[in-house]
Amino acid sequence: MNPGEKSVLFPNYSKYPITIIKGKGSRLWDDKNNQYLDFMSGISVCNLGHVPLKVKLKVQEQLEQLWHVSNLFHIPNQEKLGRILTVKSCADLIFFCNSGAEANEAAIKLARRYHQRVLENQRYEIITFEGSFHGRTLATLTATGQDKVKEGYRPLPDGFLHAPLNDLMAVKSLLSDRTAAIMIELVQGESGIHIADRVFIQQISHLCKENQLLLIVDEVQTGIGRTGKLFAYEHYGIAPDIITLAKGLGSGFPIGAMLGKEKLKAAFSAGSHGSTFGGSPLATIAALATIETILEERVSERAEKMGKYLQQRLKEELAQYKFVKEVRGIGLLIGIEFTEPVFEIITSLYQNGLLVISGGPNVIRLLPSLYVTDKEIDEFIDILCHVLSDH
Ligand SMILES: *Cc1c(COP(=O)(O)O)cnc(C)c1O
Repeated sequence: MNPGEKSVLFPNYSKYPITIIKGKGSRLWDDKNNQYLDFMSGISVCNLGHVPLKVKLKVQEQLEQLWHVSNLFHIPNQEKLGRILTVKSCADLIFFCNSGAEANEAAIKLARRYHQRVLENQRYEIITFEGSFHGRTLATLTATGQDKVKEGYRPLPDGFLHAPLNDLMAVKSLLSDRTAAIMIELVQGESGIHIADRVFIQQISHLCKENQLLLIVDEVQTGIGRTGKLFAYEHYGIAPDIITLAKGLGSGFPIGAMLGKEKLKAAFSAGSHGSTFGGSPLATIAALATIETILEERVSERAEKMGKYLQQRLKEELAQYKFVKEVRGIGLLIGIEFTEPVFEIITSLYQNGLLVISGGPNVIRLLPSLYVTDKEIDEFIDILCHVLSDH
């Protein structure tokens, strides 16, 4: 944009005053040729770093062949990608869409329809958790356990209740003969890296089985290797009925997916749900190449190892700062909680060539590439300590 020119974009984003034009691995460059170390990965999207070679080559090949045909035809990449994701998860079936909100919207619709059409009851309520984030469509912002995303959008759809995270009694008190499902982010990302307790999640899973409720796990941010496993639910010893994916699935090419168990098959009969773009040949080849790379190169295990190193270095180096309250996380999904808002610190960080985002007002959320090296982590720690010492 030229200086003095007014933007024609709706002002619904508060943007960093930076124009990124190129990326490679953990590095980004702006239009003034400044280099940045990227510890946000486009909000956990570019899990393989920027412009990963194997994905690029597969997408280039597909670009020559076919871009889009619609879901009125068989798309072989969908079957291949679906096969891998169902083999590697507890799910049996998959539906493709374009974003996290759409994947969660599909999960909500599937849960309602399963009860109404397969079990033939009238259950429709979904219990979610305070501090969760599930998307920006009307249903998913209603599912979200934060008021800030709801302001000005009333009336909201009926049927969503919220309990505090890790509070089993509160969940039980919300159960009724209207309850259809429980939907949960196992590590709340957007609100500041709040991790669900293992025992709590196992109790929730048990509660769902006892009461014929579907357990929906929102892995839009935690999935695709981010937490040191392909899916975060693997840390918890549970087998959810529905899993939703998006962010890291296509390495930056928009794609979302909802996975579910065999028993849900009849609920999504022909014509019951759909998407024009969902699972296009281009989107599914990007995701297929991404998942194949993650599995072949054992990227999740790498993320676990590098996450441990990053947390250990943070805990050692940040103990000296009184305004740092806690470092917590799992794999390469890590939060640094401060005793104050982090906006100014984040500004100083990008002025020093380091890109991070917040999670809630007081938390810096770290989402580096899963290929991040120990050298890059050391460089990150140096910049962070330099900025915090000045603060
Ligand atoms: C980002 C996110 C979403 C929404 O995804 P969009 O692709 O922006 O629609 C949903 N759930 C979680 C946990 C997320 O982090």
